[in-house]
This record gives sequence, structure tokens and C-alpha cells, in this order.
Amino acid sequence: MASLRFSAIQETLNRQAISVDDTMFRSEIFAKNVFDHKTMRKLLTKDSYESIANAILKGTKISRTIADQIAASMRDWAIKQGATHYTHWFQPLTGATAEKHDAFFDITKDGVVVEKFGGDQLVQQEPDASSFPHGGIRNTFEARGYTAWDPSSPAFIYGTTLCIPTVFVSYTGEALDYKTPLLRALNVVDHAATEVARYFDKNVKHVNATLGWEQEFFLIDSALAESRPDIVLAGRTLLGHASAKGQQLGDHYFGTIPSRVLGFMRDLEQECLLLGIPIKTRHNEVAPNQFEIAPIYEEANLAVDHNSLVMDIMEKVSHRHFFKVLFHEKPFEDVNGSGKHNNWSLLTNKGVNLLSPGKTPMSNLQFLTFFVNTIKAVCEYEELVRASFASASNDHRLGANEAPPTIISVFIGSQLTAVLDELEKVTDGKLSPKEKTDLKLNVVGKIPEILLDNTDQNRTSPFAFTGNKFELRGVGASANCASPMTVLNTIVAKQLRDFKKGVDVLIDKEGMKKDDAIFNILREYIKESKKIRFEGDGYGTEWEKEAKKRKLSNHKTTPEALAININQSTVKLLEEMGVMNATEIKARYEIELGAYSKRIQIEGRVLGDIARNHVIPTAIRYQNILIENVQGLKDIYEEEYRKPAREQLKLIEQIATHIEKINENIDVMIESRKFANKVSDAAKKATMYCDEVQPYFEVIRYHCDKLEMLVDNELWPLSKYRELLFIR
Ligand code: ADP
Ligand code: MG
Repeated sequence: MASLRFSAIQETLNRQAISVDDTMFRSEIFAKNVFDHKTMRKLLTKDSYESIANAILKGTKISRTIADQIAASMRDWAIKQGATHYTHWFQPLTGATAEKHDAFFDITKDGVVVEKFGGDQLVQQEPDASSFPHGGIRNTFEARGYTAWDPSSPAFIYGTTLCIPTVFVSYTGEALDYKTPLLRALNVVDHAATEVARYFDKNVKHVNATLGWEQEFFLIDSALAESRPDIVLAGRTLLGHASAKGQQLGDHYFGTIPSRVLGFMRDLEQECLLLGIPIKTRHNEVAPNQFEIAPIYEEANLAVDHNSLVMDIMEKVSHRHFFKVLFHEKPFEDVNGSGKHNNWSLLTNKGVNLLSPGKTPMSNLQFLTFFVNTIKAVCEYEELVRASFASASNDHRLGANEAPPTIISVFIGSQLTAVLDELEKVTDGKLSPKEKTDLKLNVVGKIPEILLDNTDQNRTSPFAFTGNKFELRGVGASANCASPMTVLNTIVAKQLRDFKKGVDVLIDKEGMKKDDAIFNILREYIKESKKIRFEGDGYGTEWEKEAKKRKLSNHKTTPEALAININQSTVKLLEEMGVMNATEIKARYEIELGAYSKRIQIEGRVLGDIARNHVIPTAIRYQNILIENVQGLKDIYEEEYRKPAREQLKLIEQIATHIEKINENIDVMIESRKFANKVSDAAKKATMYCDEVQPYFEVIRYHCDKLEMLVDNELWPLSKYRELLFIR
């Protein structure tokens, strides 16, 4: 019988690209499956439409009667489009999306089939969700949590199911999902940014945070992926010798997209367009088999939902094309891992991007205000930013000379650095008319609309200003963007609130003019946040030393990075901003640590299994062949056999040594795991998994990979890197 590996390779050779009907015009199908403004305006009564429009814009409540009307229209529209079921769609803290489908119809006592989906079903549901992570918030004996409709993210039909985006909270109101704190953070940043924006334009009513994510991923042929227990169970390879050719020639990046992949991309884009997800860009990434898609940016809550949805769709579409999609941050050693850059900005209801330099000195002062406040916020809370994208899988990617380091810094480019340097020199107190004119004309007024550094971005920076937005680059490909977006928007909100207070004091108590006050506060902020600004090479060891001098944090592992989340200052901040209370913070912390330990535990088990049950038996089989060969040589050459059998004897010994090392290390790894499992404190347990279990992975892998290079290719049971990484 051919090994799984060889039949998988055979299968991939017969693969054909699946063509996708793309005769439909993009604009024609865009958001066809979404209950969006356009559809609602058409189908809802004027009252209902206004009510939901207000709920979206201002967060006002929707009455039960109106909810009933909306539900009825939504149901009729969905059934007409072919939907048979509905679900409350939410993002529990497992990282995946959750849904439980219910049919639209119900059967009455008399056996009559009726369609049942009203305001009650739309607004609130009580999923039996006792097995979702809750970090102790909900005791299982009162497994009550409920999902509640989020009207700000439109309902959509996926497959034959009407999906209603919802928040997921405990019966006592604590957040059990990603969306709830995000919505709270977006709400506070809206308030804080609106207040500050009104210094420059009295008519600003709302400010939305915007997010444009760039999703990187790997595609692996599904048959090959199935032949690897590590890919199936851990989402990454735990062993595998590097391929002779990897990414060193740089021939994959922006190269021609392989036809099988193009088929997948078209199919995916079509699904996305139907769901109103504006995917715009697709290209090859640096590593072989690595790709990226990116949409046009959207309001952050919607963008986060869309990213979760896209990841889900990608898995489904990939099956149709016989691919497995990998979101793991480091699925293969020696080639780049996958990230998810979060491009972020603030947009007023009048369509003004507050992080975009303008044409006039006044609009540039507005730009500088938001720009400097963001830098200050990141400086104050750099550790929280770092923690917002900490995970077991992302630990492998950060700081590995392919992704930003674990030290948070801000890159702004030489032109803006020069502007901030000038602003730093502004006189303390009231400015003379001459100084103010000078400043406005020669500094603020000279900020070019197009910044040169735009085209020369410092790719090594974890938080870079790229012309009209900041780009947060530490986020991992498998993450839900809600966590980093919650942190970023909360800290910016806090900073803007403090800024407003400071400026108002100078105006009211010191009698300063508004722009004098703004210049004064900005000057202080620029000085105070200098340490976070770094324009150099973020990958170098020099920077690590320098960052230490600047007292910037450098948490290389998740257990270390997460500690800040339960720090008193963090609890104070999140409570003050109304984003999370102490119970929610503690629960989330425990959940994240628990997830970390479980991940490493699973990887340890899988590695032990593969090494012991796949690699060692294969090595022994090959060793037996060698022994047979040596035996044969002995028969022929008798006492003289050692010379012709020299290499084989060496091989037999090498194999024995590697087997010994593998076994030895697996034994101690298992012991360490047992030890760690006995620890009940979540932080201690995670630290043990990190420091005392994980380190064995590398040694075990090393010896397995050596064996891969020694053992007969015909016998090797696991698909090799060179087979996995090059889609034919
Ligand atoms: P790259 O960073 O790869 O050079 P772009 O700068 O063109 O690519 O855009 C990357 C992402 O940034 C896209 O998803 C885009 O929609 C998003 N983006 C652009 N402007 C904004 C903005 N004002 N707010 C949030 N995201 C934005
Ligand atoms: Mg980018």
C-alpha cells in the first residue's frame, strides 16, 4: 500500500484549477445578500427605517413594535433570497465565530406549520452556551448568557442562513465575546474625538474609527495537509526539514498567482462581494504558497465582523478548491509567517479623515492634534498594545526578522519628525503674534499633503504612520482584530479626553487663546512621548539595547506580555473608560492564559505522537535495511566487510543516536507537561508551559529533521516542505 504521503502527492498531480463564473459585474452583485441601508430603505416603513438608522448612528434603542416590523421584513426578504434558517452570529472568546441555526418555521399545537421569526427572535436569544469560554463569569450550573442584536452591523445571508450579528453577554451583563468591549471602546473614542474635533469644526457630530485589515494566509493542497497530523491538529508543522529552495530567490512575492489559487481567489471574492465585503487587493506574499487579501477600509466594528466572516468563508471556499487555508502565524519554519496589519484612522461624520494632513494651517493643526495624541497614547500604554496581540502562535512570528519586534515603537518618517522637532521649540505660555504666524506658515502650513515617507515605509516598525493612517503590524493572521482595536481606540479615547481637559484649563484658567493652548499641550506631549518614536531598523539588536535604555517593554512571550492586562493601572483605565470592568478583565486574562497552555499542550502531544509513532518507526525500518545490507556485505566479504560497509555502519549509528535523543527528550517533555498540568494558577501554568515544556519542541524537531535527511525518501511518511510549499 502506498503511504498516505505518496497517494497525497499523486492526488495533487491530478488537480485542475476550478474555473469560476465571473461574468457577473461586481457592482451588480455587491451586498446582494446583505440587509443593508439600501434594502432597508426599500422594504421598511419610514418609521422603522428611521429607528434603525438612528440606532446605527446614535446607538438609540429600538422599540419592540418596531423590532417586530423590522424582523418581519428581514424574514420575508431572507426567505425570498432562499434562506431557510436564521442564526444569531457572534464571536465568543474561542477566536472562531459561533452560530446555531434555527428554522424559520415552527409547528403549532394543532400541527400547523407557521413561519416564526419576530422581534423577539431578532433582538435576543439564549444559546445553550455553557461550553464557551467564560473565565469563571458564568458558573455552568447557571449557564445563562444571551446574544443581543447589534443593529450597527447589518444582517446577511450566508448559504441558506440569515445571520444576525450579535453581542454575547452573561446574564449579569458581562461581556463574553470580542464585540461587546469593542463597541464600548468605539463609543468612547467617538465621544472623545468628537469633542476634540469640535475645536476645529463646530459641526462635527460623530467620529468613527476606521479599520482596513490585510489578511495573510497560506494555501496547502488538502490531501497533503491531511497527511500531516501536525497541520490537521495544530495548524502548523511541528517538524519538517527546510526545502532546498524556499523564499530566498524572492520569486513568489507579487509574482503570477498560480491558476488553482486564482480560481480560489475569484470564488472567494465573489462570496465576499455578495456579502458586501469590499475585497480590493489580492497578491502573492513573500513565502511560497503565501498570499494576502485586503478590503477597502470600513467602520471598525463592521470591518472586524467582516474579517471574522472572511476567515470563515475562506475555510469553506478552500475546500471547494481542494486547499486547506492556514491562518497560523508561523506554519513553516524558515519561511515568513502570516500577519494581519490593522490600518487605523478616525473619520468624522463629514467625511474628514482626522489623520490626513490638509491644505490649510488650521486643518493641519487638527491633523497634528490627532497625530500627536495617538503617539502619546501608544507611548503611555505600549504594554497594553503589545498584549493586545499576544498569542501562542504569534509568539513564533514577532521578533523573527520578518515581523515587527515585541518592542512597541512608532515610526513617523523624517518630514513629520522635523515638524514635531519644530513644535517642540514652541514658547511656554502665550505665543507672540509673530511666533504664531511663523509657526502656522512655516511649520504647520508646510506639512505636505503627500508625505515622501509614504513610499518608503519602514517595514520593521510595529506602529507606522503611512500618510493618512497608522498601521499596527503586530497583529497575527489568526487573531480577531477586535482585541487590538479595543485597546487602540480606548487608549486614544483616554488620551483625547485628557488633552481636552488640559486645553480647556489653559483657556479657562490661564486665559489663553484656543490655538495657543493647543500648541502648548502638544509641545508637552511631543516631549513626553519622544521615547516611543523610532525611525531606525526595528530588527537590529542595537534597537533592543536602545529600547531597554528608554525603558520600553520587551515581552517576548505571551504569558509575560499578558501580565499587564490585570495590572491596577489597566483596570483603572478600562473601568474609567467604561470598556471593561474588573470581573471581565480577570475572566479574559484567565481565558487567554488557558488558551495559551492548551495550545502548547496540544502541540506537545502531537509532536510526541509524530516523533514516536511516525518518525522513529520509519527510522528503524530504514536502519533494518541498512543492517540487512551490512549483513549481506559480511556474507560476501567476511572479516573484510567493515570497509565496504563503512558508510552504512555510520548511518546505523547516527540513526540510533537521533532515536535516542528523540526518546529522551520526549520523556522529559511529558514529565514537564504532567508537572505543569498539576498547577492550577493560570499564569503559573502558562509560564511553565512556556519555559519548561515548549523548549523541548526544538530539540525533538532537530533530531527528527536530521532523520528526514538520512532516511530513504521512499519510506518517509510525512509530506515534506518541498511538497507542501509549492502549489503546482
Ligand atoms: P499597503 O499598506 O499594503 O501599502 P495601502 O496603504 O493601500 O496598502 O492600504 C492598506 C489597507 O489600508 C487597505 O485595507 C486600506 O483600505 C486601508 N486604509 C487606507 N486608508 C485607511 C484609513 N483612513 N483608515 C483605515 N484603513 C485605511
Ligand atoms: Mg500595509
